[in-house]
Amino acid sequence: MAGTALVYTPIYLGHDTGSHPENAQRLIAILAHLDREGLLEGRRIFEPEAVPFEALAAVHDPALIEQVLEAAEAGGRWLDADTYVSPGSYEAAAYAAGGALLAVDAVLHDDPRRVFVLSRPPGHHATRERAMGFCLFNGIAAAAQYALDRHGLERVAIVDWDVHHGNGTQDIFYTSGRVLYASLHQWPLYPGTGRREETGQGPGRGATLNIPLPPGADDRAYLEVFDREVAPRVREFAPQLLLVSAGYDAHRDDPLAMMRLTEEGFAELTRRVKQLAAEHCQGRLVLVLEGGYHPDALARSVAATLRALDTEVGSEQSEVRNEK
Ligand SMILES: [Zn+2]
Repeated sequence: MAGTALVYTPIYLGHDTGSHPENAQRLIAILAHLDREGLLEGRRIFEPEAVPFEALAAVHDPALIEQVLEAAEAGGRWLDADTYVSPGSYEAAAYAAGGALLAVDAVLHDDPRRVFVLSRPPGHHATRERAMGFCLFNGIAAAAQYALDRHGLERVAIVDWDVHHGNGTQDIFYTSGRVLYASLHQWPLYPGTGRREETGQGPGRGATLNIPLPPGADDRAYLEVFDREVAPRVREFAPQLLLVSAGYDAHRDDPLAMMRLTEEGFAELTRRVKQLAAEHCQGRLVLVLEGGYHPDALARSVAATLRALDTEVGSEQSEVRNEK
């Protein structure tokens, strides 16, 4: 019996971006692969609702929410050179954020303790005031804020292993000491933020951890820096809930970046966040899909993540090899 639930709705396919790299085929490929691999058998799949306006307005300027709604109702248009809104995009983005909230509710009720939200559009580039970088609403930020406001948590950690820096998530929590944001990302790369010197401000000082990595970083490089910097910082912060911006564009086959992670590398990262969640969060762990633009590599990597999530902590050996 799978110990990890999914969140999914076909409404996510309604964000119609045509031949854009961030397109509906990504989720279709993931679900088809999970099905072929038997990973949907006996697995719970939650159907989300749209995010409540107040939960979205807690992390976004209402003018941004209005802008996306207006663009969708007007029949669709580009918000910037990368970011398209189609007629179904407002609804898809609202359900994507709603899916992240539902996952938080589920894990905080231990029903079950691990949830992977297979949503799109992605969210981590969306700042408080601006949709950008394929992202409309920042679902993981809304989920973290919701865990604080609605569930009364004091500390939430977000680990972001998407190949791009999650400037939006950083922006939203930059002055908050209640959300630790830790990102591993390729440097230099879009969006150009995420320097080491960006560590937070005011009460948020020290609650942002940026780890820029050179192009070509492989499984070993990621795992080494995760163990040396990310894990100790998360342990020191002692979050009550762990959220992951799970992007797969650091895969070696991905067309948008130059990293060299493999499926097994993503599985190892998953084991590590699962271990941290077991130590501090009673195992409560939510992953939210961000990027990943090679549909087959994305699907295989999500499957590897899910297998690692399903395995109980402590019952496995590291399988990362040093040679590839
Ligand atoms: Zn990305």
